[in-house]
Amino acid sequence: MIQYRVSYENPLTSYLQIELTLAVATADAPLELQLPAWRPGRYELQNFAQKVQRVVVEDAATGERLPCRKLTKDRWAVAGAAGRSVQVRYNFYAHQMDAGGSWLDETQLYLNPVQALMYAEGRQQEECELTLTLPEGWQLACGLPQPRPNVLTAPDFDHLADSPLIASAQLVHEQYEAGGTPFHVWALGTETLVNWSQLLADFKAFSEEQINMFGGFPVADYHFLNQFLPYKHYHGVEHHNSTVIVLGPAGQLSSDELYKELLGVSCHELFHTWNIKSIRPAEMQPYDYSRENYFRTCFIAEGITTYYGEYLLARSHVRTPAQYFYELNTMLRKHYDDAGGDNLSLADASMDLWLDGYKPGVPDRKVSVYHKGALVALLLDLTLRQLSGHARSLDDVMRRLYEEFGLTGIGYTEADYVRLVNEVAGRDMQAYFDKFIYGTAPLLEPLDKLLRTVGCQLLTAPNPSYAEAAFGLRTASRADRTDVAYLWPGSPAERVLAVDDEIVAVNGRREVPNALLLLPGNAPHYELTVLRQNRLLSVQLNAAPGRSFGPRYEVRKLREADVAQQQGFRQWLGWDF
Ligand SMILES: [Zn+2]
Repeated sequence: MIQYRVSYENPLTSYLQIELTLAVATADAPLELQLPAWRPGRYELQNFAQKVQRVVVEDAATGERLPCRKLTKDRWAVAGAAGRSVQVRYNFYAHQMDAGGSWLDETQLYLNPVQALMYAEGRQQEECELTLTLPEGWQLACGLPQPRPNVLTAPDFDHLADSPLIASAQLVHEQYEAGGTPFHVWALGTETLVNWSQLLADFKAFSEEQINMFGGFPVADYHFLNQFLPYKHYHGVEHHNSTVIVLGPAGQLSSDELYKELLGVSCHELFHTWNIKSIRPAEMQPYDYSRENYFRTCFIAEGITTYYGEYLLARSHVRTPAQYFYELNTMLRKHYDDAGGDNLSLADASMDLWLDGYKPGVPDRKVSVYHKGALVALLLDLTLRQLSGHARSLDDVMRRLYEEFGLTGIGYTEADYVRLVNEVAGRDMQAYFDKFIYGTAPLLEPLDKLLRTVGCQLLTAPNPSYAEAAFGLRTASRADRTDVAYLWPGSPAERVLAVDDEIVAVNGRREVPNALLLLPGNAPHYELTVLRQNRLLSVQLNAAPGRSFGPRYEVRKLREADVAQQQGFRQWLGWDF
């Protein structure tokens, strides 16, 4: 058994004391300790060793100091460990408040063990025990079993790393049951009103919808760990039998807007219990925490989860179809926010998560596995429904993935997914993959065609900003200046402006920093005075007749639908037309 102990002296320093004790047999290979460089759920190197201070290794019995040196940025070799019980001590800076972070102050200890706990190379399969030293009267919320107060056990390092915890005297704890499984909802920061009876009824409805869809739940119990913050924040991370959700501002939790976000992220993270935690890509079976784990299928892990995260809220009647379409339109707006979709395929975007997947990136370079992934999941679902008269759908693909890979613990490959899609479709779906997964074929026309089979349509409207629609120009205003933020490829603005130009005057007049007030009067020509790297320039903007940039797309119910379309709507969404 490998023992971990987490304690702290002064919570205001944010430093946790971490202790790792393990016996090293005489025959064991030299002891090497690794701190993860990334965490499952976010496919980029985060180099958590940046938060580690003062690593000391001693013989646990005699206190004799053992030599320890770094092999890499996050790997340590301990000399002379054979035949001893070894204790490793270091400090960890817990001062990152998001769903993948850790935080310490006088009111709570919040830990994502994957950031903070080292493992001994070759011994990840051994049972682990984590003991926390906590103030009297604090509760401990975590997906791991607690055999004794403040003691958690995990069958191996993976489970320990994948089990975040929150300890505090102020935790609120509510429960519900779905499909025979107990669900726990933990929350910090709920001083403001939360309508718990509404929340538990909504959570139960989408949980049951998911369990029914898959025909079972992969784990024995489930924990939603919520951090509600006093400021704006939105983040969720999936785990083995839990999720951390960080949302704010908490004062708006009783408002529709933030509650809607809580439902969306909670339904999404719960879906991951199957799709990525249980149904896992072969490339991550097992996880290698020391380096990039490249995989080409994040359009399945995140795209399909993003699709179902919103869609199942409608199907379980937690949301109306109109509310679902609002979310779908947000997804469309985000996908068509720039021209990156023309330049990178979804499969390559999955690899590029490790490159710049979580940054804005350079203009028009990339595509989101979340947004485009969700749109092509919708496309596939409607295709499968159309081919089978709604007898089969994407539900069947997901259920079969769960049966073949989730329940067996075998990692799935890209080829496995293609095979299952072909089998459920009852025909070769290679064209779908070539166009939308491996290629950058246009989505709008096929999407509109398929939406019509379920009584809906995809409408196009001009961008509400005249500057963007007529000239392809998007600005960002901050303090007392307006800068060029984005230029549509091939637009009139792109010919004369550059990103980060500061717009000083329009038609010789200094303009207030408000993008919507920029270019008043909707004229076809404007003279802009701009500062480019401190050079004052005058440029002429000329609209391109007949062209419009950055259009908006909107899914709407058809005004009139025939019987088949109305029936399709009911079978897809579970609501009458
Ligand atoms: Zn996700």
